[in-house]
Amino acid sequence: MLTIDKFDFAGKKVFVRVDFNVPLDDKFNITDDTRIRAALPTLKKIVADGGALIIASHLGRPKGATDKFSLKHILPQVSKLLGVAIEFADDCMGEATAKKCAALKAGEVLLLENLRFYAEEEGKARGLADDASDDAKAAAKKAIKESQKEFTKTLASYANVYVNDAFGTAHRAHASTALIADYFDAEHKLFGFLMQKEIDAVEKVMKDTARPFTAIMGGSKVSSKIDIIENLLGKVDNLIIVGGMSFTFSKALGGNIGSSLCEEDKLDLALELLEKAKKNNVKLLIAEDAKIANSFSNDAESKFADADNIENGWLGLDIGPKAEAEFAEVIKNSKTILWNGPAGVFEFSNFAHGSLVLAEAIVAATEKGAFSLVGGGDSVACVNKFGFADKVSYVSTGGGALLEFIEGKELPGIKAIRGY
Ligand code: AMP
Repeated sequence: MLTIDKFDFAGKKVFVRVDFNVPLDDKFNITDDTRIRAALPTLKKIVADGGALIIASHLGRPKGATDKFSLKHILPQVSKLLGVAIEFADDCMGEATAKKCAALKAGEVLLLENLRFYAEEEGKARGLADDASDDAKAAAKKAIKESQKEFTKTLASYANVYVNDAFGTAHRAHASTALIADYFDAEHKLFGFLMQKEIDAVEKVMKDTARPFTAIMGGSKVSSKIDIIENLLGKVDNLIIVGGMSFTFSKALGGNIGSSLCEEDKLDLALELLEKAKKNNVKLLIAEDAKIANSFSNDAESKFADADNIENGWLGLDIGPKAEAEFAEVIKNSKTILWNGPAGVFEFSNFAHGSLVLAEAIVAATEKGAFSLVGGGDSVACVNKFGFADKVSYVSTGGGALLEFIEGKELPGIKAIRGY
């Protein structure tokens, strides 16, 4: 398979799908440009090689063309970070855009307008009334799939090389993230640096695993992490369950959890997962103690209690010192670590200590040679908050895409290029 480090883009016209879905304030200032920075190595390499670069992305969830979601707002920052002037095409379709793409020369860069201004990008019909008949829905679905083919073909016609560097959307079979790859042969489609790094990191954890392998799953809900936990139970040596979701397990085991977060309809499932862990020889660890509060607030009265003996009216908002010590020990002795989800309500300074202790243990294990992957929204926010982002092996940029990849699902954006 082609790899970007060895590919020479000189004289090539390159369509790069990036994920520039950055947050903007109400004056259209970018409040966090991490996603743009993450794509820079790929974009810089193409320009430096002497390729003509066409950049395409989505921004937000527009229902049609609207100024609010125009990529023109991010053009100055992309241009500044890339260090070259960038031309803008105010439509990703149309004759004028096709001409701009055709005229683009070596070393020049063109940014296309938001791909999601067209329903064809996602391939989902828009504007259907909620009470539309099944026939009308089926007809609309058929029509959008047909016009999606034309849309995809047009995007593909702009270039002779396709690069996908949008890991954040790799779990979507959209026109520009997956379908477009069919218009390029194996010698003319490849992953960008970011995409390659994300794939390598996940495969190092899930396939090329150094043992012991410890996964730490936290956050608020078991329901959003069931598939991951199930898949991990076939791979890990230790599974540490923390955060709000641990109380569903404590309750399932007969504990009193007071007013802590609990998904009553997932109690049986928690028991099944515990059973599966036993069968697979996986050590499933649930916090022995908790830091409890008398309300969901940073200023609440707080104290430590056994996690299975929480008084009514009190709720667990963090793990306690016994759990911190036990989990830190397991983490420090691990060779592969995956962290998804905080140990407590880390946004409240009084309930962030458990997450900090876990993060410190991950950093210590990494210093001793372990491979640590941190990913999925809030654990990334945690390592950033504690200033540890460059002290773990890899911090993923993907939310949903990362989670689906760890669940063991095939990601359309990856399969479209390498075939699996
Ligand atoms: P998730 O989006 O499922 O990964 O959950 C992340 C959120 O879980 C964060 O905003 C945390 O504040 C929250 N969280 C972690 N521990 C608890 C807890 N014990 N009770 C309530 N929320 C929690």
